[in-house]
Amino acid sequence: MKRTITGWMMTEPGKPLEKRSFEAPALEPNEVLLQVAGCGLCHTDLAFLLQGIKTRAKPPLILGHEISGTVVETGAGVDPGLKGRAVLVPAVLPCGECALCQGDSRRICSAQIMPGNDRHGGFASHTVVPSRFLCPVPDSLLSSHELWELSIVSDALATPFQSARLAGLSRGDLAVCIGAGGIGIHGIQIAAAIGAKVIALDVDPGKLAQAEKAGAGATILVKGMGIKDIRARVREEAKRLGAPALQWKILETSGTKAGQETGFNLLNHGATLCVIGFTMDTLEVRLSNLMAFDARLIGNWGSDPVLYPEILDWLAQGRIQVKPYVERHPLADINAVVDSAHAGLLQKRAVLVP
Ligand SMILES: [Zn+2]
Ligand SMILES: [Zn+2]
Repeated sequence: MKRTITGWMMTEPGKPLEKRSFEAPALEPNEVLLQVAGCGLCHTDLAFLLQGIKTRAKPPLILGHEISGTVVETGAGVDPGLKGRAVLVPAVLPCGECALCQGDSRRICSAQIMPGNDRHGGFASHTVVPSRFLCPVPDSLLSSHELWELSIVSDALATPFQSARLAGLSRGDLAVCIGAGGIGIHGIQIAAAIGAKVIALDVDPGKLAQAEKAGAGATILVKGMGIKDIRARVREEAKRLGAPALQWKILETSGTKAGQETGFNLLNHGATLCVIGFTMDTLEVRLSNLMAFDARLIGNWGSDPVLYPEILDWLAQGRIQVKPYVERHPLADINAVVDSAHAGLLQKRAVLVP
């Protein structure tokens, strides 16, 4: 059966996305055609579109890597039972075959595919994706959640979930969350769900109010504050919360030079700094602090898709939420939504729904 894909393409960075239709390509083995339910708008999309960061596939390209949808066609080698299933598409799909994948280093698989970067993504009616790591959504979860809103699991939730796992964040730890935006807010709710004490830092009072609702025990409006004052305030709040004075787990999601500087300067004995946000800016730091403090600096490129079912379990149990953090927009409004997101006018993650 012939199907038409209608998507919004980046033709040239900086230009509005263009609506175009084309015939869906014949599926390769181990691929599926997905009818898109929703696709979250991420800062990475804005970076491709507005900041000159190059996509791996040349434009014209449909962006979008936070995708949920329903499988409508299956290629050769795919379990035919997948047809009709609601699924999440991991933001980064490893090949599953190479030595890195076999060795549980799937996040750095060199044959990985990121929709909306290596090939057309989710700002479309349909999209073609590899089937191997698709995460089926249990029917029970769909009785309390809509499929479009679960799209944000694929990056906004999964990435900080992976970071928390790598950092070994545990009950009773102190999580210092720098940035309470589209990714940061989920770092906060995940840390709170783990049972960590959470201190949230942001420059926006509205985001801090949301952070409190997501489980932050303390919030600090860092706008205009110097690093010494920030450090003193974090220590004070940690004490007030009865949190450890050392071995902090610091989640940097702001993706700003100031945020990263703050993160590095909050390192203390046994601390871990997770670099989750992205910026092209560089900073000058005394790297030897890592040695002196026996501290760790770690990054993660998205998350391992094997974590997705666990995240869906947490949602089913009500330990974490998506509903308070998403807003639904018609896909046809994408250019206006991109402008609002770029101007920092959105308090919630925008999900584009075809
Ligand atoms: Zn993203
Ligand atoms: Zn691989």
